[in-house]
Amino acid sequence: MDYLPIFLKLEGQRCLVVGGGEVAARKVNALLRAKGKVSVVSPELGAELTTLADAGRIGFSRKGFEPGDLDAIHLVISATNQRAVNESVAAAARQKGIPVNVVDCPELCSFIFPALVDRYPVVIAVSTGGASPVLARLVRARLEAALPAAYGRLAKLAEACRQRVKTAIPDATRRRRFWESTLQGGLAELIFAGQEVAAQRHFDRLLAAESSDQPSAGVGFVSLVGAGPGDPDLLTLRALRTIQEADVIVYDRLVSPEVMRLARTDAEKFDAGKASSRHTLPQEEINQLLVRLAREGKRVVRLKGGDPFIFGRGGEEIETLMEQGVPFQIVPGVTAATGCAAYAGIPLTHRDHAQSVVFVTGHSREGLGSTVDWERLVNPQQTLVIYMGLQALPRIRDELIAHGADPGIPAAIIEQGTTPRQRVVTGNLSTLYELATQQQVTSPSLIIIGHVVSLHDKLTWFQTQGREA
Ligand code: SAH
Repeated sequence: MDYLPIFLKLEGQRCLVVGGGEVAARKVNALLRAKGKVSVVSPELGAELTTLADAGRIGFSRKGFEPGDLDAIHLVISATNQRAVNESVAAAARQKGIPVNVVDCPELCSFIFPALVDRYPVVIAVSTGGASPVLARLVRARLEAALPAAYGRLAKLAEACRQRVKTAIPDATRRRRFWESTLQGGLAELIFAGQEVAAQRHFDRLLAAESSDQPSAGVGFVSLVGAGPGDPDLLTLRALRTIQEADVIVYDRLVSPEVMRLARTDAEKFDAGKASSRHTLPQEEINQLLVRLAREGKRVVRLKGGDPFIFGRGGEEIETLMEQGVPFQIVPGVTAATGCAAYAGIPLTHRDHAQSVVFVTGHSREGLGSTVDWERLVNPQQTLVIYMGLQALPRIRDELIAHGADPGIPAAIIEQGTTPRQRVVTGNLSTLYELATQQQVTSPSLIIIGHVVSLHDKLTWFQTQGREA
């Protein structure tokens, strides 16, 4: 290593910044965040530093740098664009043994600034030893994505409960194991979701269980997660994290293999597939399964295609969890309508073509049965999106036309949208079913009816190996 990574305590320490421009201002702010006592030396002062100086938050001397400025200084940063000034700051600092950083001149520095991921009090510093600050920032971006924004709150809770845990679990090894499981389970998820009260309650239960004979029994956690329409990159950050951490995944037929591949290889996987013709697990059994797995103390992910609250029966599953007092969270996903529309180049609304959009299901039991208000669905200024509509399409077509829909209104069916297997078949309301049948379109597929479909020809951007019809 060329540099020793350390975290320097600056509180109350006198720091000097040479230079008064924007770069200097950035460094001043970094030092102030770490509670340093900052003064600036520069013949000129930019707007930002002037504000800080006027507010008395920094000291300021309007003059050029002299080595004497380093008296009683603990750390110095040179942020000028004058090579000679930077060199003399570096030389004077070295002579006095004061840590010095010269912005953008690694060869003049005795210390360098890392790229930061700040989840105070958790702080991660990334450095490439000056080789490539851009690369350091790319690494930082990855870490930013991997660490929930509320990571710091988790550290705070751990700090607040540290003594209690020490008393409750005197054995150091057991205590470490307790923290390991606690800090990555449901407790963390509750904190990340901003549910601090529930998190505290969950923590109390964990600690009580740990002190009893049956550690971790009954204190698992369920995440009801939307897996999106197929492309794994469409997962939310929270969905990705919960999938990667899950002990058990109960998944639907619609969840794509690409998404399932993100799970831990040792995670238990339950297929709760629900092809409309072959109900693998009845809903009630799925509900009970989730409760049982959580009671075993596991991190359970109930993974559903698209969004759990759009034709996903997510509501029924959480009702049971609530009744049984199982802690849970709901992670929304990209629903098939928005995912498929985007990947098919069909905007669901458009100023010229559609001011509203309606999602309906063609599944006879829960959707377009006898109670449907067909007239409300017939509106040339509205986009109609039909989930699970392939089988019922002839009837839907006939009803819409009988209720006044234009048989020539553009319509599309998107099969396996957002995946490498995506196919889009376009036609109009009267022809779509025949076209789809000819092309042997199968489930899952989504129907979009409305003038916006005419934009598909112009806006197609996602080309797949699938046979584009
Ligand atoms: N909760 C899901 C919908 C479940 S209903 C969501 O929000 O997307 C299942 C129906 O969704 C399928 O019959 C199909 O109409 C649609 N669907 C889901 N994923 C799809 C995909 N990748 N391509 C096309 N349609 C899809």
